[in-house]
Amino acid sequence: MGQVQRPGAGRTASLCTQAALRYPDGPMNAPDLEPTPAGATDATDADEAFMRMALAEAARAADAGEVPVGALIVAGGRVIGRGHNLRERSQDPTSHAEMVALRAAAARLACWRLLDATCYVTLEPCPMCAGALVHARVARVVYGCDDPKAGALRSLYRLGEDSRLNHRFETRAGVLADECAAALSSFFAAIRAGRRGR
Ligand SMILES: [Zn+2]
Repeated sequence: MGQVQRPGAGRTASLCTQAALRYPDGPMNAPDLEPTPAGATDATDADEAFMRMALAEAARAADAGEVPVGALIVAGGRVIGRGHNLRERSQDPTSHAEMVALRAAAARLACWRLLDATCYVTLEPCPMCAGALVHARVARVVYGCDDPKAGALRSLYRLGEDSRLNHRFETRAGVLADECAAALSSFFAAIRAGRRGR
């Protein structure tokens, strides 16, 4: 009663079945997956180690003249998707780091459900990305610095724990927050200095 009919449900299930057939022992046995960072001995260490990898993605964005935000999708201790902000290069308003990483992970698994995955991202996700993380059914989101102007997990909204939505995930904020914030502030300081120098 009152249930929305979802005619595509069978098709998405079959795509996920294909992923399961391709990786019968689970996606972690898929080829080309990146190993857990060296030295990660417990959950906290692992979060920091993965956040350093997300920071490396953010640095790639800065090198390309993009606002430096980087993201990873990790499942079973392995990186299954990574990305950085590509908004300028792609001229696509949706190509935030988290979206790029989510698309890569879903494509790799041939499955849109990223049920046991954790997203690591250097900046608190915006409403679009937080919504996408809900849609992807991730288990956990770990982010670096807060975004008081657009953050949708803690600063402005709490989309990861909103009981009106059909999925919720755990959030951990503030991992390597100072380094994540410094990447952004030095990028914008360089832009301001460039403008003054003109
Ligand atoms: Zn976003």
